[in-house]
Amino acid sequence: MIIDYSSYNTWQDCPAKWYEKYINKRQRRWPKAQRSDALCLGALVHSGLQVWQESHVVAIPDQAIEEFTPDMETRNLALELIYGYARRYPQELWPLGKCEEPVLFPLIIGGVYGTKEVGRLEGLAKIDRYFYVPEPSQIDTGVPGQSMILNPGFWIHEYKTKSPYIPISLYMQSWDMNMQATFQCMALSHKLKGEPVQGVLINVLEKPRKYIPKRKCKGCKETQEFATYIPTGTGEYACPSCGTRQVLQPLKLDTPTVPPEYYRFPVTRTREDLERWKPQIIQVGQQMIQMAEQGLDSVPWTTKNCVDFKWNSACDYFGHHRNGISTKEDQELMDVPEYRGLVEIQ
Ligand code: SF4
Repeated sequence: MIIDYSSYNTWQDCPAKWYEKYINKRQRRWPKAQRSDALCLGALVHSGLQVWQESHVVAIPDQAIEEFTPDMETRNLALELIYGYARRYPQELWPLGKCEEPVLFPLIIGGVYGTKEVGRLEGLAKIDRYFYVPEPSQIDTGVPGQSMILNPGFWIHEYKTKSPYIPISLYMQSWDMNMQATFQCMALSHKLKGEPVQGVLINVLEKPRKYIPKRKCKGCKETQEFATYIPTGTGEYACPSCGTRQVLQPLKLDTPTVPPEYYRFPVTRTREDLERWKPQIIQVGQQMIQMAEQGLDSVPWTTKNCVDFKWNSACDYFGHHRNGISTKEDQELMDVPEYRGLVEIQ
């Protein structure tokens, strides 16, 4: 069994979701074109930044465009973010090393663990770039008046796109307990055969803040986006919630847009942190092994996550699980691609 941050996170969301994605290997079929979701944007930015790191050209590879099929707005936004990053950081502070493959690292070799006999369990993390800091070094975080120190040792270089509506201080705090950094530090530590890995330098590309005009309905008193009101052809607009008709204050021309912001901050993981979190990963891995053997219904499902109000959507497997239908034959879903290019580093 291989456990990576994504599968660990999916398990925490709901074990049934993990089973569908990693054992039944079924996932949502993305539309062939016109994607504008956060995953698509993140993937384009990631691909473009790899090109930037390798050849100092701002471009998104054709292969990524074909694979993720963005709409024009998402493609342009990705280019805007990459271009801004290239201007903000024309040179990296330290030479970046490259991991060509996702890195496997051992968690349980197999045999008896505690009182149970268990199979082999391995961790996996994708690390695109890493670098070595020879001496304590101060970096500018991008937050006015705030700099931070990177301690000597190896650091992982990670890019993240972020909504402008999440405060940067809260975003930084969220990384203190984020398991992606833990998986990555465990993997790099293993790859470097115990060399000190200090943590992850998160490079944040914050999306531009666009002005979204809103109007309050005089009937239900809800505030709705202007674009969701329904024109009636009489000069009045109908509220999308209650249907009350009213004349809306016209839109202003030249609405303000705040350009992208760029931040950098270190997320540290000590050896003690890694040792402390390793048993948690192993415990989840053991539960995964058990569920893989015993089936979808063998572990309680986390039904409070069936509908996500943050994204205003239901889980991809909602209909199947609500009605007891198998996901295997559903043409609306597709097979999850295998992990690509796995190489074990001894
Ligand atoms: S629909 Fe609900 S129970 Fe089923 S996988 Fe999704 S979150 Fe879990």
